[in-house]
Amino acid sequence: MPEIVADLHVHLEHDEFVGILAEAIAPGLDVVAVTNHAHKPDVMHAQPGRIEKLQSLRPDLLLLPGVEWDVLGCHVNVIFPDAEAFAAVAPDFVGRFNMTDDESVAADALGAIAAIPEPTRPAVILNHPGHGLEGARRLAQVMVSKKPAVAAGVDMFHGHQGWPQTYGDPMEYPGNVPGGLYDTLLSGGLRPAATAASDFHVHKQERRPDYAPGQYQWTIINCPDRSGTGVVRGLWAGESYAVQGSVVEALSMTWTGEGLRVCFRARVDLERWEVITGSEAGVAVIGFGRTAGAVDETVPVKRGRGSWARVRGASVSRERPVPGGPYAGGFASSAVHDGDGPW
Ligand SMILES: [Zn+2]
Ligand SMILES: [Zn+2]
Repeated sequence: MPEIVADLHVHLEHDEFVGILAEAIAPGLDVVAVTNHAHKPDVMHAQPGRIEKLQSLRPDLLLLPGVEWDVLGCHVNVIFPDAEAFAAVAPDFVGRFNMTDDESVAADALGAIAAIPEPTRPAVILNHPGHGLEGARRLAQVMVSKKPAVAAGVDMFHGHQGWPQTYGDPMEYPGNVPGGLYDTLLSGGLRPAATAASDFHVHKQERRPDYAPGQYQWTIINCPDRSGTGVVRGLWAGESYAVQGSVVEALSMTWTGEGLRVCFRARVDLERWEVITGSEAGVAVIGFGRTAGAVDETVPVKRGRGSWARVRGASVSRERPVPGGPYAGGFASSAVHDGDGPW
């Protein structure tokens, strides 16, 4: 299956920023989702034209339209597979469901997304849970109780990193800590994808520069094909990993008779990496110490109905990285489940 490199959270709020964004998007990205705020209706309505212009400047990229939905005090990206699906759904969706603080309205909104037939149904990603964590937890509970048929993702690291207060330790980030937001969805029977994005704002660069799209955080997704629908289906399958600074590459997980075989290549020295396992008995952590280079480790993970496992880690250096990589940072995979094939 093709492995695509995505940044599923980028802002583009003014016509004159199109050229700046086109130049800022770093090489190596395959997919960029433009996801302006739902509470700025003018921006949302102008977005399709701006995406068209960006596409003419960057024909190499698959651009997806989306909207950053304000719900229960948190931010959630609703990402559509193409422009028609966005035009058909997004304005009405925002009009009905934006800015709600009511769990039953949030459940209706997720139900409305789930009712959109394939292949135009959007994906839903819980953005940057370091900001709005309480709301993200509430929405996660709605998702666990209603189990809407939507492809879901959770940001494992914070985007919009020009703001130092949002940087933090990648191993402590509330998206990916053991038993955190990601594991809440997993233990609730969902299959979330691990994501990381830039949340790049052209209009905030003068105050405090963010990492540009594709410069520091990526979501690597196994997709059935390189279309918008393929990306949503890849997220749906939950076969992805989130990585900062390309600290690791070629991450794969396979069940064997002895447990979970984990392979990746560390491009910088890792301080540690971990396998997080979950089952009805709860969440457990199997830790590995300082690591460099190629890793091929079969970890004795016990499997059973409903069990899952995922991998995460971080570099020795926690210094705030500068462009030019490879950098310091963390990585976190989506989970493999009992019965899954290799990915
Ligand atoms: Zn946001
Ligand atoms: Zn944003």
